[in-house]
Amino acid sequence: MNKINLLCILILLLANNLMHAQEINTEILIGMDDSRIVSDTILLEKETYSAFIKMKDAAEKDGIIIKLVSGFRDFYRQQLIWNNKYKKFTNEFSLDGPTAIKEIIRFSTIPGTSRHHWGTEIDVIDKNFENEKDLLISKKYEIGGIFNSLKRWMDENSKNFGFYIVYDDDSNRPGFEYEPWHYTYKPVSDLYQREFLKLDLKSIISKTKVEGKEFINDEFIKKYIDENIMGISSHLK
Ligand SMILES: [Zn+2]
Repeated sequence: MNKINLLCILILLLANNLMHAQEINTEILIGMDDSRIVSDTILLEKETYSAFIKMKDAAEKDGIIIKLVSGFRDFYRQQLIWNNKYKKFTNEFSLDGPTAIKEIIRFSTIPGTSRHHWGTEIDVIDKNFENEKDLLISKKYEIGGIFNSLKRWMDENSKNFGFYIVYDDDSNRPGFEYEPWHYTYKPVSDLYQREFLKLDLKSIISKTKVEGKEFINDEFIKKYIDENIMGISSHLK
């Protein structure tokens, strides 16, 4: 390949990247715009959806039936989950605001900051056990658990389709608890993650109806980004 061809390719790649970055606006990143989401029973970002279908078909050939239990979740759904928990923790359990928030963020994200807003994230189970109670329990994915065959298949194959575990079992990882069911479609979520980190979260949250938002100040946001948003598997950073 001569130098001019190489230069052309580099320019094209750069332009493509810039174009994609421009398309990803704030509303998309915080789950208020679903224009890139495609509809099936569970919603996903369009490229994530095609990759997921390919992975699901491959797994089926190996006798594993992957069932998607969660994909795209919009801002308002996350706000409802958050506000219900906040009210419960402050009213029923009489916690003060900052303590309630600390409890909630062990398992749930602040509305606007969930990776599920991007449509690039999937929560998966083994369809054979879809009627089980309490599906998303990490023990069920370990040896002896009902979802262990699924997990072993994912460990071996998911990366070939672009899917990576986000909240792994590395004991040095801060932030959210271990989630062996949650995968991200890295080819798209890498870009979303980069763009998301440029947002002014405090100002975005202050304009919403998120309960306890008065406690979400600069200091809190900095810690939350360092520990929770970036508390992800090292291969996603
Ligand atoms: Zn998830």
